[in-house]
Amino acid sequence: MKDTWLHVQLAPTVDGLLLHVHEKSEPLPYQETVFPEEQLTTEVLEKLYVGVGVLTPEGIVLEINDAPLADAQVRREEVIGQPFAETPWWTPSPASQEQLRSAITRASLGETVRFETLIHPREGMDLYLEATITPHRDVDQRVSYLVYVGTDITARKRAEADIHALIDALPQLVWTSRPDGYVTYHNHRLINYLAMTPEQAEGAGWLAGVHPDDQQRVWEAWQTAIQTGRLYEVELRLQDGRSGTYCWFLTRGVPQRNAQGTILYWVGTCTDIEGQKRAEQQLKESRENLRVLAETVPQLVWVARPDGWHEYVNQHWRDYTGLTPEQVQSDKRAYLQFIHPEDRESNRAVVQRALDTGTMFEHEERLRNAQTGEYRWFLVRGMPMRDDTGQIIKWCGTCTDIEEQKRIEQALRESQERTSSLMNSTIIGVTIIEGEQIIDANDTFLRMTGYDRDDLHAGRLNWMRITPSEYLARTLEAHQELSSHQSMTPYEKEYLCRDGSRLPVLVGGAILEHHPHQAIAFVLDNSARKELEQRKDDFINMASHELRNPLAALKLQTAMLRRHLNKQGIHTAASALSTIETQLNKLTRLVEELLDVSKMQAGKLEYRRETVDLDVLLREIADAMQHLHPSHRILLQRAVHASLLGDRDRLGQVFSNLLSNAIKYSPDATTVEMELSATEETIRVRVTDHGLGIPQEQRDKIFERFYRVTGTQQKAIPGLGMGLYIVTEIVKHYEGTISVDSAVGKGSSFTVTLPKSRDA
Ligand code: ADP
Repeated sequence: MKDTWLHVQLAPTVDGLLLHVHEKSEPLPYQETVFPEEQLTTEVLEKLYVGVGVLTPEGIVLEINDAPLADAQVRREEVIGQPFAETPWWTPSPASQEQLRSAITRASLGETVRFETLIHPREGMDLYLEATITPHRDVDQRVSYLVYVGTDITARKRAEADIHALIDALPQLVWTSRPDGYVTYHNHRLINYLAMTPEQAEGAGWLAGVHPDDQQRVWEAWQTAIQTGRLYEVELRLQDGRSGTYCWFLTRGVPQRNAQGTILYWVGTCTDIEGQKRAEQQLKESRENLRVLAETVPQLVWVARPDGWHEYVNQHWRDYTGLTPEQVQSDKRAYLQFIHPEDRESNRAVVQRALDTGTMFEHEERLRNAQTGEYRWFLVRGMPMRDDTGQIIKWCGTCTDIEEQKRIEQALRESQERTSSLMNSTIIGVTIIEGEQIIDANDTFLRMTGYDRDDLHAGRLNWMRITPSEYLARTLEAHQELSSHQSMTPYEKEYLCRDGSRLPVLVGGAILEHHPHQAIAFVLDNSARKELEQRKDDFINMASHELRNPLAALKLQTAMLRRHLNKQGIHTAASALSTIETQLNKLTRLVEELLDVSKMQAGKLEYRRETVDLDVLLREIADAMQHLHPSHRILLQRAVHASLLGDRDRLGQVFSNLLSNAIKYSPDATTVEMELSATEETIRVRVTDHGLGIPQEQRDKIFERFYRVTGTQQKAIPGLGMGLYIVTEIVKHYEGTISVDSAVGKGSSFTVTLPKSRDA
């Protein structure tokens, strides 16, 4: 059997390997075997390749086929033995020349090198080549020669360029990838967005632009897609390379297959879904917010379907009614039992109307608390929620506890009623004042004073202006009290009416709690009482006058009788006459006092003007009193010498009244004291006793006309309540003051302070 040698040559091509087999009767020398001198080989190659060449490891051309020679229009002899990189295909383009040189260097070291390049074989001809340089080794494993194969990929390159141009023109972010997942191309938009160079993004470089949190998930999805050949779809955050911010994208990759179903490449897009994501997020948040809100608000919250079934009730609702969500969802009318029987019908009507008209409803009703069983007032509100087409999809509602509010409203109503009945009262005049202005008044006040609403609105009602000058001081004092004590003690005054007449009134008032700048004043028509008082004064005046004359006549007659009897030596009636005279004197004093009071009332009391030596006056009074009342020892202390310009009798009246009271109201005491002192400006007289004392609450009143302290002990002591009034009026006349210090059961001390008259 004869051995047959097979010469096998393997050469890489674009799509795979070319297997070339020759049958030989004997082994060819190594050199020979390589040479594809057979016509068949050359022919085959001519059809497949643009260029095939054999090079020395240094890159010298050993053999070359015709195609490149034809392209460059050179003869074979011109290139054989020349460095391949300096042949006409490469020389016009230094970049590809350089690529070739480095490829030859790498191949000569044993590596198969593949690269794409653009060459210019001759003037006006551009050729995209995919070049492969394969090293061939001898038996010693040394690289003995290199096979160069260059394939024309110009058409493919053009097609690719067209596709890329198309892809670049798309308003989307587009990429393509090899079947193995190596991303070959990112369109301009994508490159611009990522702010990477095409080289940086190539392969798996784009992954650097994916949010770190998404990288793993995205990579896994991409690997799965490549392995299964199924649609690749994933949401990811891509970094805007310029601003550094991330935006959400939906990335989709679709495998492109040939007729046999083999994946040729992938085409993918990235769609901006940031807005959608944000809206989704917002929706989620707003739903969550709504739920949190519904659980946090103090109201009972419910959501019902248009058919009336409750879809949601918050915790408050469940707590108040004691119903479980299951109960609510299994019984449509479960909540009805909590409505007060009296409110059910109106609730039904209101809800029905809302359902019919599709408008919101509001209803006040009493709801029963499941735990306590008590009913509380609630304001129930329901609001329809509609979809885009206007269809009602839900009713949302709240029940607000208004029990407290109801109670306050009720109280307010009652208080308003009270206030308005007061305002509408025909007896009491009511005014609201702010500053000096009366800003509101009821009809009674207007009727009383004769003003009308126009005067009121025009601001003509100023309480200063309608107060007669002699009452201004007292009025200002009352207002002072009002601002310091929030209220004024009722006091008497007069108003100037519109027609110029005067109206005696009793006025009181208080600051309005909620308007601290305003006060409410009550005005009572005092004219009837004043008139009565006037009549009484007139009567006293008349009576005292009428009494004075007969008294004077009686006194005269008694004196004459005493003289007459004396003359006749009859002494038996002497003591009876004395008694008569004493009683007559008492009566005269009383009538004199009554007359004084009545003159003081009318402002007609006359005062003389003379120099009064006070220490002398006090001595005389003390002596006279001591004579009349031997029961008490009168202790007089005069530390100073003081004189005054005034009416001696009137001033005497002041001190003798005080002294006689001191004795009268200290029946069990043995002494009373009178003390005179002075400062640079004033003279002071103090009368002190150790008697009954005066209760605190009556201390101011004792200075009023005819006032007497209301105690059994006091009542037992005779008197008419005129003394202190007369004292006060006289002291006032001299612009002095009188005050009292007292302790019940211990005694009282009256102090009169008089200003020293300048010319005294
Ligand atoms: P009267 O004529 O009643 O004494 P006054 O005007 O002098 O009238 O006094 C008024 C009232 O004041 C008396 O009724 C008495 O109750 C009380 N009063 C006056 N002085 C004293 C005093 N020194 N001690 C206690 N009470 C007094």
